[in-house]
This record gives sequence, structure tokens and C-alpha cells, in this order.
Amino acid sequence: MAGRSIAIAGGGIAGLACAALLARSGDRVVVYDRMSAPEPVGSGLILQPVGLAVLDAIGVAERMRALGSPIRRLFGRTMPSNRVVLDVRYRALGGGAGEGLAVHRGALFEALLDAAREAGAQMEGGREIVGASDGRLAFADGTSSLRFDLVIDALGVKSPLSRPAPLPPLPFGALWCNVDWPSGPEAAPFDPNALEQRYEAARKMVGVLPVGSVRTGAPRQAAFFWSLRHADLAASRAAPLDQWRAQALQLWPQAAPFINQVTNREQLIFAAYCHGTRASPASPGMAHVGDSWHSASPQLGQGANMALLDALGLARALEANRDISLALGAYSRSRRSHIRLYQLASWMFTPAYQSDSQAIALVRDWLMAPFSRVWPMPKILAALVAGSIGSPLSAIEAIQDG
Ligand SMILES: Cc1cc2nc3c(=O)[nH]c(=O)nc-3n(C[C@H](O)[C@H](O)[C@H](O)COP(=O)(O)OP(=O)(O)OC[C@H]3O[C@@H](n4cnc5c(N)ncnc54)[C@H](O)[C@@H]3O)c2cc1C
Repeated sequence: MAGRSIAIAGGGIAGLACAALLARSGDRVVVYDRMSAPEPVGSGLILQPVGLAVLDAIGVAERMRALGSPIRRLFGRTMPSNRVVLDVRYRALGGGAGEGLAVHRGALFEALLDAAREAGAQMEGGREIVGASDGRLAFADGTSSLRFDLVIDALGVKSPLSRPAPLPPLPFGALWCNVDWPSGPEAAPFDPNALEQRYEAARKMVGVLPVGSVRTGAPRQAAFFWSLRHADLAASRAAPLDQWRAQALQLWPQAAPFINQVTNREQLIFAAYCHGTRASPASPGMAHVGDSWHSASPQLGQGANMALLDALGLARALEANRDISLALGAYSRSRRSHIRLYQLASWMFTPAYQSDSQAIALVRDWLMAPFSRVWPMPKILAALVAGSIGSPLSAIEAIQDG
């Protein structure tokens, strides 16, 4: 049986995962992206057990495990009291339930790109997509693509195919950079298997995530981040770097081995966060995957994992159903409730770590933190972080042949 023709708009995490899975099952896949040459960019992220299961299905999980850093604990203290207000341990899930894996974003990108190419997907770079209709993508230079049986919108949070206007940014984003993991005695205070953060109420946050190496033989690194209000971005850029460094050191003096590696403002990249969910991941002849369907702040560390689960759900639905509209219905049913649940959780948790509200910070420190230590909360929180509440993999496995 001849494969279907599928255009994937966007070669990020969701788009490349879709390309690898769909090209392997015999569909003719072309990935379009604005970047002219594939580029490993960005900082780091945590792959949760559910995301790693998708990478296993794609065949790149072992490569990522060899490069990344296992994450067993998410840990945070509020300053100046030094009280522990976040302590989530994956081992609360019980033996064999897995742990997180923090990876360099570039390492994940390269692994997915290699998998997509090996599966036979075709890459077309330098294509700014501005619209789509009747199975064709429209490009900024006025040209359009050939007609495809299905268009997959994997254009991320600002997708012009998903919403008429971009989502407004949340009040807080963050400055991110990658720095080398320190060696010798400087490394001693840091757990290479934990995401660690310091807070001042919810107004300030600084964090270190060990992300491993971007490729074999490269130095092991950490993603370092500093929460910043959108409204303060211009002033922060205009101020001398030493002023930022002094603020970061004041909040977390022990993090000096990371902070002192930031010697140039260009190292700090501002990431804006948005929150929003499309009512449906499908429109006629088009499927939306990843951030173009649902976008959230990274406080719960789920966006890339959701993107990978969407790709697996869509690929399974298309394998099970030759008819594309039946496949889109099956895809939507397999992912909808998990997405709703995690978008809600992310919306609820974000202000506890990024807001100007003193009251929310007090609730976090004096109510949520003590409550999180009482059985069965450690297990529930670990399952929430692991992405497994709502059994997303079982929902995908349950997709029926149409
Ligand atoms: C700072 C930060 C930290 C994060 N940490 C985590 C974490 O720890 N764990 C986690 O699971 N998630 C995390 N996330 C979220 C995660 O990165 C996203 O959810 C994920 O990248 C979404 O993948 P995507 O493929 O949908 O979109 P993207 O990865 O954004 O890919 C979109 C692609 O589309 C292309 N594109 C966009 N517009 C156009 C256009 N008009 N024309 C042509 N091409 C276009 C882009 O070049 C890109 O290649 C984090 C996000 C941020 C910002």
C-alpha cells in the first residue's frame, strides 16, 4: 500500500519525533523549517520517564542516556531562611518506575534529526511558513508547497497555523545559559543528579540543572537560569553585568562556580513563557502537536515530554487508521485528557515559583511544602513530575485500528 504524503511544519522536538516515527512506517515525509541548516541551539531540559519511553520507541533513548544526566531529585530552598520548600524524589514512585534525564537541548535535537533522516524523512530548511490551506503550506516568499494528504503543525508556541494571534507572554520568563559543570572541590556542594533552585519569595529564582554533554567527548555542562520579569528585561540588559552577578550571588552564594562563568551578557538568553491550549489538536487535514497545541511555563518540566507523547500518539493513530479524519479523532482522544490535566497543574504551580505575590509564596512555604511531605503526597508529586498521572502511554497503546 502506498504511503501517505505528510508535510511537517517545524523541525523542533515534536516535528522531528513525528518525522522519525512516520517516515519509518512508510509515509512520505517532508519537514519544513525556517532554519536553513539544522542547528543545535538552546539550553537544557528534563526528559521524564514518559518522554524517554517515546525516545525508546524512536530508538534514540540509549544515545541520550549516554550523554545526559540522570535526575533523581528536584530540590529548592527559600532564602534567607534556607528552608527546604521543594523536595521531589523519583524514588517515591517505587522501584523500576524510572527517573528523569536532563539533557542538552542540542543533544536531543541532533539525535532526533539523525533518527528522522535515517527513517527517510526529507528536510527543507530556510522556509518561513506563514499559513496553510488545502494541504499546502504557504511560505513568506509568496511560494507554496506541493499538496500533502496531511499537514502537521509543529511550529511551536508562535505557530501561525494554530492561532490567529500569538499568545501573550506570562509576566515572568528567565535568562538561561549553559556553563561547564565545575570540577574538584568546587563541585562538592552540588548533586550531579538533582535540579536545584533557590528562591526569594516567588519574586526571584535561580537554578542549576546538570545537563551532561552535547556530544561524546564534550565537557559536561549545567543549564543555569535566573527568573526575570518581562517588564525588567530592558533594564536588566542596560545594566552592567556585575550588577546581575551580584544579585545572583546574593541569592545563592554557593553557586559562584556557575555564576562566575557568565562573563558576557550575550551568554544569557531570555526565554519568554506563554500559557495556552487549543480546544482541539485537529482541524480538517491538519494535526497540531507540541507547543502549537499546548504551551506552558517550564515549572513542571513537561513541554518536551508532551511534544514527544503527541508525536507517538499521532503516529500510532495514523498507523491504525488509513482514513486521516478517523486517525485525527483517535489522536485527539488519546492525548486530550492528559494535556488538560497537565496544563491545569502547570497553570496552578507556576505562580508559586514565578510571581510577585507574597501570599502565594507564603502558601507555598508554610502549607504546600509541609503537606508535600505527608503520605501519599511524595508519591503523587513524583508521579506528577514524571508525567505519568493519567497514564498517557496506556492511552496511546489503547488506540484501536479503524
Ligand atoms: C527555557 C525553557 C526551558 C524548558 N524546560 C523544559 C524541561 O525541562 N522539560 C520539558 O519537557 N520541556 C521544557 N521546556 C518546554 C519545551 O522546550 C517545549 O515544550 C518544546 O520545545 C516544544 O517542542 P515543539 O517541537 O512543539 O516546538 P519547538 O521546539 O519550539 O520547535 C518549533 C520549530 O518550528 C520552527 N518554526 C517556528 N516558527 C516557524 C515558522 N513560522 N516557519 C518555519 N519554521 C518555524 C522553529 O525553528 C523550530 O524548529 C522548556 C522551554 C523553555 C523555553
